[in-house]
Amino acid sequence: MSIYVTQGIILKRKIYRETSVLFHCLSEQFGNITVIAAGSYKEKSHFTGFLEPFNLLNLELYKNTKSEIYNLRNAGLIETYLNHLEYQKSLMIYAAGELMLQIDSPQDDGPDLFKLLITYCHYVNSSEFHPYYIFLRYILRLFTMMGIPIEQNCIQCGNERIINYDLNKNGFICHRCLKKTNIKSEPLSSVAESRSGYNEYETNIELSPETSYTLRNINNLNVLLDYPLQKSTIRETKAIILMHLVTLFHKQFHLNSLRDI
Ligand SMILES: [Zn+2]
Repeated sequence: MSIYVTQGIILKRKIYRETSVLFHCLSEQFGNITVIAAGSYKEKSHFTGFLEPFNLLNLELYKNTKSEIYNLRNAGLIETYLNHLEYQKSLMIYAAGELMLQIDSPQDDGPDLFKLLITYCHYVNSSEFHPYYIFLRYILRLFTMMGIPIEQNCIQCGNERIINYDLNKNGFICHRCLKKTNIKSEPLSSVAESRSGYNEYETNIELSPETSYTLRNINNLNVLLDYPLQKSTIRETKAIILMHLVTLFHKQFHLNSLRDI
């Protein structure tokens, strides 16, 4: 039996066998881990109240070296990220957690992913920008960190006036380069509806001008301060994020937290 000490942020929790709490967390030292807090639901041990989603904790864990699941020995609260947070902002934090749970993070990336998520949660809490813009920036950083970046310029010529997302090349494309190909460009709805599996897309997604403008300026948020976020931008960027992940990991991904924004 070995003892482990790390910081961790809880992504999801549930009651386990009536008396215990089982939670998934992104830990600084070990990446995504599953932890059982035995008896903590019933006994009201002093840390029970801490075991809530998006609480940052000091964790003292133990486990059998052969086991995948850690046991909680002690916990100390460092920070809460969902406390009194407005609805839209909390959805963005849930969305980041939802994606993190689906990504198999090698332990080596643990500290970097952990730092990125903590920084993001702080920023969502304190920023005056629309939280979806913060989420998009977070996604771009996350993808870069994981070695699957999405360039925001045309993948063929570097032009920043992108009008399409190429589903086969996993990148954006400009008007001029699109004209040189025979690829059909279609608005999102028709592509999404005919979607039947991985990597079977033969068309590009047409970006609305608002989405193109948003992506062009996402690294300079002051430009977007008074720019109203459009529903089409949310729909298109969400689909691009999911399709990018599906194509690269060959499994389905979901972002249910953002269904209602
Ligand atoms: Zn181009």
